[in-house]
Parts: sequence; structure tokens; C-alpha cells
Amino acid sequence: MSLAEITSRNAVLDAIKEYDRIGQSAFLKGYGFGESRMYVLEFEGRQYDSKAIIGVARKYQYPDRPPLRPQDFSGGHATVQRKLESLGFIVRVRSDTEEPADHLLAEEIPFGSELREGSVQQILVNAYERNREAREQCLAHHGRACVICGMTFKDSYGPLASNFIHVHHLRPLSGIKSDYVVDPIADLVPVCPNCHAVVHLGGQTRSLDAVRQLIREAATTTSQFFITEPEQE
Ligand SMILES: [Zn+2]
Ligand SMILES: [Zn+2]
Repeated sequence: MSLAEITSRNAVLDAIKEYDRIGQSAFLKGYGFGESRMYVLEFEGRQYDSKAIIGVARKYQYPDRPPLRPQDFSGGHATVQRKLESLGFIVRVRSDTEEPADHLLAEEIPFGSELREGSVQQILVNAYERNREAREQCLAHHGRACVICGMTFKDSYGPLASNFIHVHHLRPLSGIKSDYVVDPIADLVPVCPNCHAVVHLGGQTRSLDAVRQLIREAATTTSQFFITEPEQE
């Protein structure tokens, strides 16, 4: 029993139809699959749990055989992705993926054994920046280009990474009260991980303009260097 026997794009489409019809939780529960945490099949603007879809596709391709169960897959994500891509589908990093804990920016991880007020507020801001719904609304409005340097993951890394971007929380910590509710459009902006790291570098929170200025200054210095260098040769 392996993924090799799934060769029908239509069978995958049938599984997608069933997923749409009964909904994610019934689909996953009914077939015994868990949620795809990192990678999803993207089809017509919607995201699907890739492993569950390919498993269920089997019963559509072979009506006399049961769907694959999670334990029937020998390979990991890469195998599932290769199979779906070979059938003409796109697999992407989930758009609402919250960065795993080990991907947290070092500057944003609170240090020390005691939680001081600053670290508590920092945790709060991290929570705003990783809040799924707020993220989605922010990105639906602002798009997925870094508001500081303009890069997009789509342009730099292609379709697999096209949904990826950090969001940064703009409100000064001092202005946040306990009844504060994040405004996804006014308070959150998309930033690439590099710019985001520099925004928070050294434990402070720089303004977007301050980091844009750093980039401009560095570019000026660098281009002067490259202009003068050949003349000396
Ligand atoms: Zn950037
Ligand atoms: Zn931030």
C-alpha cells in the first residue's frame, strides 16, 4: 500500500469536493487524519490538508479499496507534496502558520527567570503578531509585501513560500491598556523576517521609517563603495 497507486487527478478533485461538502473537521475526523500543520494543498484559493486529501483520493480512484489511513503513508511531507505536484496541484506553506517556537526572533524571547513588566508586554505583542484571525485580516488588507523593504516571498522563493510573511504590531506598548483589542488593519503590518528582526534589534521597537532610513543609508554607503572601488584600480 503506498502513494504510488494514486495516479488520478480526478480522484484528488473528488476528495476535494467531499472536503468542501462536509467541511474540514468532519473530513479529518471521519478519515482519522490530523490537521496539516505546515503544508497545505492549495486549490482555487482555498487550502486543504494535503495528506488527508491524498489518502481519501484512493477510495475515489479505487472504489473497491478503502481510503489510506495516516499510518499507511511511508514517506513524510515531501512524498505527499511530490505526489500532489505530479498530479498538477500546488502545495504551499500554510498561510496562517504560526512560527514554531524555535523560529521566534531571539530578541523577542523573554530572557531571565523572572518576568518583568517589559517581558510580559513583549509576550502580549508576540500574541498579537501571531493571532491567526488578526493576521489574516491584516494580510487581506495590506497584502504580503514587506512594508519596509518591499520584498515578497513569492518573488524571492516562488509559489511554495508565497503566503509566508511576518506581521508586526505597531502600537507602542505604553499605549496598550488591558481592554485593548488589536485592530488588524491599523495596528498590524506585514514585514519580512529580516526587517522584523531589525525593528526589534536590541530589544527596542523601531519605527518603520527608522528601519527604512537604515536601509537607505546602508544602500548609499554600499553604492559609494562600489562606485569608487573600480576607479582606484
Ligand atoms: Zn523587509
Ligand atoms: Zn514586531
